[in-house]
Formats: sequence, structure tokens, C-alpha cells
Amino acid sequence: MRRAISVFLALMFLCQTALVVGEEVKQIPDECGLNFDGDLANQSVHFQTGLGPRIPGSHASSALRESIKSNLTGWDITESTHHSNGMTLTNLYATWNKGEGSTVMFAAHYDTRHKADQDWNQSRRSEPIDGANDGASGVAVLLELARLIPEMNLSHEVTLFFTDGEDQGDNHSTYVLGAKAWAENLTQQEADNIEAFILVDMVGDSDLTLRKTSPGNVELWNRTEQIIRDIDNVCELNDASYFDFDQFDGIYDDHVPAHEKGIPAIDIIDTRYGEGAEFLGGHWHTHNDTIDKVSAESLQTVGYILEYGLNIGAWQEVREETIDTIDSDSDGIIDSLDECPEQKGDGENGCLLEESSNAITSQDADELTTGILLIICIILVWANLAWLIFADNKGEG
Ligand SMILES: [Zn+2]
Repeated sequence: MRRAISVFLALMFLCQTALVVGEEVKQIPDECGLNFDGDLANQSVHFQTGLGPRIPGSHASSALRESIKSNLTGWDITESTHHSNGMTLTNLYATWNKGEGSTVMFAAHYDTRHKADQDWNQSRRSEPIDGANDGASGVAVLLELARLIPEMNLSHEVTLFFTDGEDQGDNHSTYVLGAKAWAENLTQQEADNIEAFILVDMVGDSDLTLRKTSPGNVELWNRTEQIIRDIDNVCELNDASYFDFDQFDGIYDDHVPAHEKGIPAIDIIDTRYGEGAEFLGGHWHTHNDTIDKVSAESLQTVGYILEYGLNIGAWQEVREETIDTIDSDSDGIIDSLDECPEQKGDGENGCLLEESSNAITSQDADELTTGILLIICIILVWANLAWLIFADNKGEG
């Protein structure tokens, strides 16, 4: 019997060792080292909504630009004004490390919609919205990131692009006017110098639900997915359930002109604003887009993604590393919803990502290894117990 117990203990020890080895394969970084402060970002949302609607050409619009500029001391600031669709629009650019290599670009629109055309109350549909989420949240994330970037010892340029005239349209030709004007004036050399274009829009929803969006760069989305999983594992701050990795939405936003210029671009956007909201339903373009629907936690969650990506260089060398996994025309870019392998329930706008047989991530492999080891251990332990009982009954040991 003593020998049997010894064998049993030895097996338990081996199992434990095997499982520890299995966990080590995950290569989790030592610390998450993130400093993005969601509360500070939320204060910016309060400030912006306090200015009133930031309609292009309005006093509130120029007051916000002045505030952004005064916040970004030490940054290289440029503005460009143009006329489009009867409006005077002003794009604002802030660059850190000006002239030091290629650029990573983060963008958000600072204008707010001039009409609440999705509001339940028809008599108020012509009035402008607060734009706490649709406008202020993206700007707030960029400004909080701007507070951190000077301390990050980055060896490349970072440009924050505050777009105007994103949200005044009625169809594709009258939306994203500021971003379109920017892209039209961009030389190919300037476009090639931009490593990535990361747009954040409607990222403050206290009920944050994100999906991949199309059009967009596949490699950038793959890296974003890995970043979210890393933050989840390392920092243990949020579980990653706010991001549905298996589905994506088609969305026309400020990233499209960059995407069409061949710049790796993605749009991080919560298209289901409010609890249980449908695609482009809920509080979107209504008078309910107010400060109480935005949370510091959601702003922080998205801010962490951008900051973590900067820390590990995820927003660089995207073109070189682009690998085709789901794109049918093999250019590493999801060009349109036509490329979605399978349409899903949400009208024309939901789309299920095809599971690619060769797209097993290293994390999947780690989990598989750990799972197999666990099963082997369970079998060994039970076999040993069965043998002990059998041996005992036989009067041996
Ligand atoms: Zn909008």
C-alpha cells in the first residue's frame, strides 16, 4: 500500500509540473504598464458637451479647437480650413516627434451632428445633439493619449487627427468631409509614410460592445484582437467580452478615405449605442446621446488598446506583415461587405468572419496543449486510483 501511495503522489507531482510548463508557454509579459486614465478622458467629455453642439463653423467648434491646442503644448499643431457642402470645415492635426520617421495616426471627429434625425420625438429631429459619445468620446481618448505620449520615448511620429464635418451628412457623399479633404490633398509619399490610421468613434458607451469593422486592414484587426487578449490576461482589468471577435460591421467613417489611399486603417466604433441596441440604433443620432450614457471605464478600455499598441509597436510595419487570412482578393484588406463569406442576422451590416483553418493563434495552441495535458493527468490519476482499489481488494501492497 505504501508503494501505491508513493506512485500516486509521484503522478500528482508530474501532473502539476506538466500543467505549470503548459502555462509558461503563454509568454505573458511581466506587467501591463498602462497609464491611460478613463476619469480624465471622461472629464474631457464633460467639458466638450458643456460647450454645446460642435457644429462646423460654430463658436463651440472653434472653442473646442482652441482648447485642444492649449492642451497640446509641445506638439506641432497645424490646421487646415476648407469649404465643403456649404460649410466651413477645419481639420486639426497635432504631431509628436515631428520629422522622426514614419507616422502612426490616431483620428477622431470633433464635430457633432446638427440634427437628431433618429430621435423618437419627431418635433425635435431638426435640433442638434450633445454628441457625448458621437464626437466627444473619440476626442477625449485622443487627448488623454496625448498626455501620455510625450513620456513614452517613442522613436517615431504620432499624429492626432481631429476631423471636422464627419457627421453632417445624409449619404456617403456628404459624410466624412474633413477626412476626404485631407486624403485628397495627401501625396502618395505622405500616404506611404503613414504606418497605420486608427480611428476611434463612439467609444464611450457605458454598455461598450465592439466588433471588427469593414472596410479595414486585416492585419491591424488581428493585432488589435491580440492586444485585447493580452490586456485581458496581463492586466486583469476587463474581461474581453465587450469585443465580439467573430463578427464585424460594415461602416462608412473617417477611416475610409485613408483606407482608399492604401493606408492600413481600422475604425474602432461601438455601432450599438446603449443596452441591447441594434446596429446604428439605440441612442445613435438622438437627444439621448448625453454624458450619462458615457462611462470612464469604456473610455479607458479603448484607451488601453491604443496605448498598449504603441508600447509594443503594434501600429508599425503593418504593410510588411500583412497576411491574408480572410480576404478573398488576397490583398490583406477587407474592401467591402461583398467579401464577407457569410451574411449574419443584422440586416446587411452584420457579417460573420470565416474561421480559417490556418488561423490558429499561438494562444489557441497554448490552450490546446494545456487541455491535452490536463486530460492525460486526469486519466493517469483515475487509473492509479482504480489500481489502488483493485490492489486493496486483492490484499496486496
Ligand atoms: Zn454620428
